[in-house]
Amino acid sequence: MFFGGDLPRFVPRSTPGGEVQYTLGRRASIKDAIEALGVPHTEIGSLTLNGQWTGFEALLRPGDRVLVLPPLPPVDVSAASVLHPVPAAGLRFLVDVNVAKLARMLRMLGFDALDDPDADDGALAARAAVEQRVVLSKDGGLLKRRSVVWARYLRADHPGEQLREVVRFFGLSRYSTPFSRCLRCNEPLVPVAKADIVHRLLPKTKRYYQDFSRCPRCDRLYWRGSHHAHMQRWLQELCEEPCFGARGRLFSGSTTFSGNSAIAAKTR
Ligand SMILES: [Zn+2]
Repeated sequence: MFFGGDLPRFVPRSTPGGEVQYTLGRRASIKDAIEALGVPHTEIGSLTLNGQWTGFEALLRPGDRVLVLPPLPPVDVSAASVLHPVPAAGLRFLVDVNVAKLARMLRMLGFDALDDPDADDGALAARAAVEQRVVLSKDGGLLKRRSVVWARYLRADHPGEQLREVVRFFGLSRYSTPFSRCLRCNEPLVPVAKADIVHRLLPKTKRYYQDFSRCPRCDRLYWRGSHHAHMQRWLQELCEEPCFGARGRLFSGSTTFSGNSAIAAKTR
């Protein structure tokens, strides 16, 4: 078997060129063999068996030659492929506890990013399957579970680098709608008239800010506070290109709530 790209990192006994011999001890599919060698199936973008494109379930015979390649970014989980004939309904994330800070940062960019720190691997995998979520993790064992279909094993260790990795891998810059989602509970924010919440504002907030949005779940209020410009710069540096898609206008200075609402948050 030959592992391309950075996949040899998962295969301790491969040669520097990514080659490894796999001894067939029983009836084994390509997926079985690849995962026995250490590579979670979620990290694979394409497979060939003796030079022909194939899927995970093809059975191996002695002498077969398998080429295993990682996905080519940007990865579109909503597109069908040989390995994923049934695409995901949309781009939604499930963030494992070992990369927990990604959840809040992805929400900052407007993405649906759930986390569930109390769930075990089985519960996380089941939820990912039912809700068709992309799992983000540094747990190879979790990503080898059959019910986990889409995932990224994070190569980076630092949270900021992990976000950059996810943005690049899934091409998120095109789709982000920064500051449109509650950072605490992942709900999309809704615009709210200042007159309806003015009694909850501190005097300076009442005086200087006009546009507000609210989380329908936790009732937290958001507006363009003093942290807003700082966070814009941080996101811009992180993405290395404008962190907004067709629906977002993060750096436009717009004061509407069309996907670019305020970020400084206060509870009642
Ligand atoms: Zn909320």
